[in-house]
Amino acid sequence: MSENRPSTRTVIRNATVLDTAAMSYSEDQTVVIEDGMIVEVSDSTTGEADIEIDAAGRFVLPGLIDGHVHFRLATLDFRALAQWSEVQFGIAMARLAAATVERGFTTVRDLGGEVNGLIRAIESGSTTGPRIVRAGMMLTQTGGHGDVRSGEIEVASCGCVLDSNVMSIVADGCDAVRKAARHLLRDGSDFLKIHVSGGVASPSDPLESVQYTPEEIRTVVTEASHRNTYVAAHAYTPDAIAMAAREGVHSIEHGNLMDADTARLLADTGTVVVPTLVTYQAMNDIGEQLGFPRANLEKNRIVLESGLASLELACDDGVTLGFGTDLIGEAQPRQNEELAIRANVQPAADVLRSMWTVNAQLCHLEGRIGVIAPGAYGDVVISDVDPLDDLTAFARHETALTHVIQHGNVMVDRSGA
Ligand SMILES: [Zn+2]
Ligand SMILES: [Zn+2]
Repeated sequence: MSENRPSTRTVIRNATVLDTAAMSYSEDQTVVIEDGMIVEVSDSTTGEADIEIDAAGRFVLPGLIDGHVHFRLATLDFRALAQWSEVQFGIAMARLAAATVERGFTTVRDLGGEVNGLIRAIESGSTTGPRIVRAGMMLTQTGGHGDVRSGEIEVASCGCVLDSNVMSIVADGCDAVRKAARHLLRDGSDFLKIHVSGGVASPSDPLESVQYTPEEIRTVVTEASHRNTYVAAHAYTPDAIAMAAREGVHSIEHGNLMDADTARLLADTGTVVVPTLVTYQAMNDIGEQLGFPRANLEKNRIVLESGLASLELACDDGVTLGFGTDLIGEAQPRQNEELAIRANVQPAADVLRSMWTVNAQLCHLEGRIGVIAPGAYGDVVISDVDPLDDLTAFARHETALTHVIQHGNVMVDRSGA
């Protein structure tokens, strides 16, 4: 297949282009993508095009960015997943990656699980999929959220969990976490992921448990900083969030049980929070029908209810917010719904800034993604709906998005439908 190879020259005419820094539009623009990169955005472009798109009456936006996914968690059936061969993983992960692009997401940040093979398959063009910025395997303490060796894992919600061969490395003590961090960075991790509080999905750790010591966390942070990157931490509770932020963790994943004091601390330390609300909504909707244990569904209900309240606290205190989903397997088609959920609490412009500006920073790809400007990758979505006007309608990607363009290639064209 050649879909992912750069085309020569793609020209989008009559474009109403969003400036994601100012959150304002420029009309009648022409966007030129050459060899996969945006080279020009102007009102006076001429010249031949290999691919030409008329965007009259539509909104031209950067490709969407999901700041929290797990491609390894390709099915909600964790018992089956634990038995899968690498071939089964490969097929299912390739399907998820292709569907992610169809929903408009051209870059994702993978928060845990081995995905190097999937990245190579996408880069070589043997499958389609988004650009993936990855943590690689997650670091977890014995008995922590990522340690599922002792109990049977039955339910998935926050996906930061599963079989330790492909999802997590169990490491205790500064020497062990240092070695594991170096191992991951050698293997290509773009940043590191640790668990500092209990989880919804795992069997042996209460939500309120605090995991890892300040010394262990500082060790991982030091290793990451030596490679000019950062540490992301799965955390729900104030104690765990505060400990991670004080030790230099850069992004708190979920953060559902945050209180006002913690929100102020995060604003002071400049720590980013990446809420992932849709995954709890999805689990709430389908968990019982899938036969998940009541104890896990109860954990899920607690973090779902507090999620929106924490988001309000974070907004009030000026905490920097990213944008993520954390959906697992069969629930991943609900990816775009996170936009609508966030719009319940925040103005559309703030939600979009989280997705395009803060997520680009978390991916270390500022100027390359999240903007329509020269020097950015040719990753563009074209929408019938103005997301600044109606984020809920924009979240219905099948009706809102007419085109998904990746590296200047048209991956989805619903304009004739
Ligand atoms: Zn996760
Ligand atoms: Zn998590």
